[in-house]
Amino acid sequence: MSAARPQRPQEAAAPHFARFGQRLLLSALHRLLRVDTPPRLAVLIFHRVLPTNDPFLASDPDVQAFAELMRLVRKRFSPLSLAEGLHRLTRNTLPPRAVSVTFDDGYADNVEFALPVLQRLEIPATLFIASGYLDGRCMWNDRLCQAIRRCPGTSVDLTPYGAGIRPLGGPRERAMLVRDLLRLFKYQAPEHREQVAADLAARYAPDLTSPMVTRTQVRELYDQGVEIGGHTVTHPILARTPDQTAYREIAENKEDLEGLLGTRLRFFAYPNGKPDLDFTAAHTAMARALGYQAAFTTGHGVAVAGTDPMRLPRFTPWERTPMRFGIRLLLNMRHTA
Ligand SMILES: [Zn+2]
Repeated sequence: MSAARPQRPQEAAAPHFARFGQRLLLSALHRLLRVDTPPRLAVLIFHRVLPTNDPFLASDPDVQAFAELMRLVRKRFSPLSLAEGLHRLTRNTLPPRAVSVTFDDGYADNVEFALPVLQRLEIPATLFIASGYLDGRCMWNDRLCQAIRRCPGTSVDLTPYGAGIRPLGGPRERAMLVRDLLRLFKYQAPEHREQVAADLAARYAPDLTSPMVTRTQVRELYDQGVEIGGHTVTHPILARTPDQTAYREIAENKEDLEGLLGTRLRFFAYPNGKPDLDFTAAHTAMARALGYQAAFTTGHGVAVAGTDPMRLPRFTPWERTPMRFGIRLLLNMRHTA
């Protein structure tokens, strides 16, 4: 290894100036947007935190990017647990730029990569878990993704599923194909999308290991102070599910996790979560009837004192550099739900 080149003064100073610039810009924007009146709570939503960047999971940060974003949240915002955030929202005592961090579905990388970062920075978090995938099972989207990733050859025949013959190409093209197929199948009948994923995984990714948490890990997370919330059993689009099945999905998930943890679940997140597209007032009523105190959507904006506690918005900027992430987060704070 060659000896380190001595740093020139401007190189050494560059990160300092960048941080200074970031601080100036974010605080100017904060004042300009007047995002603290009335008091508001931003809830961030993540799914996975990856060991390294993955074109197939472009919306999920790698651990380094996640750590940078969380350092920004710790420094420039006021991270709170959901319970404290909601409590202080009703009492009008939220600190400026209040933010809660949440994760959906229950991926094991949350334990391995996200939790150490959160613990180091003392940022509380909530995990919304689809309990049907605990202990080695796999969601349809992950099976489909792995199958397309590993499929040999230059094309894949999806005509039996109404999706034609698709060229495969390299990782970028395959990643785009996965996004395309997820969009295509997401709103189709659960049996159909399950069948597509099962067939393709059996053919191209038979040794697929589950990326989801185990029951033991859920228990450990809870013991370490992570709030566990409900997210249905099999993650259906509730608005496309018969009412009886939707109720059972919400109820059995809650009962299962409560049995595992020996506590009542307080919070629920609607799968997919777009208001009036993925769930309706009927599902809001179900969650309330089952004893949930609050439920979370994936609608943009932030919660204020008058926001319906069963339709609380969540939003995470796509931007992966702390500066852009911070700006987007502040801009999102202008939109009250
Ligand atoms: Zn989800």
